[in-house]
Amino acid sequence: MSILPLLRDPDPRLRKLSRRIGALDKDIRQLAGNMLDTMYQHGGCGLAAPQVNTRLRLIVVDISSRGDSPLVLINPIIARLDNELSRHEEGCLSIPGLYAAMRRPASVVVTALALTGKCIELEASGWLGAVVQHEIDHLDGKLLTDAVAAKELARYRKQTRQHAEFHRKRRSFFLPLHE
Ligand code: ZN
Repeated sequence: MSILPLLRDPDPRLRKLSRRIGALDKDIRQLAGNMLDTMYQHGGCGLAAPQVNTRLRLIVVDISSRGDSPLVLINPIIARLDNELSRHEEGCLSIPGLYAAMRRPASVVVTALALTGKCIELEASGWLGAVVQHEIDHLDGKLLTDAVAAKELARYRKQTRQHAEFHRKRRSFFLPLHE
């Protein structure tokens, strides 16, 4: 298993539509395992394949505090949505430092394939419901930033640019010492 590099906003590859998975082969099992490792490594509770630069409809989720309840959903589809909305503060491993209070259906029923190839139906509400919907959004190229007010987003982007600039300058300042 290995830790995969994450794409970061505003990478245009995060905006692409992901393809359905045809065969559940060794590569898919390996991808799912690596995605779980990557998610745990970064302390996340969900990760979608496009975030690791793979345009396939696969998400992994684990909302347990011990990280011992992994869930792998292949070709997930939201079959039913609750009319009631609930709000949760969401973050995203591809948009570090940005948090947004998102209003989404309070509960959803998701159908998907498990890694075994079995069809599963999952009723997800509360925080799990929010995470599953967030990850499925990634498969359609939708990001948290879509729901954030333009002003707040501009502030976030400016901050991350300054942060990157600071680290770049610091690196170039120290570079001669390493040579
Ligand atoms: Zn995300």
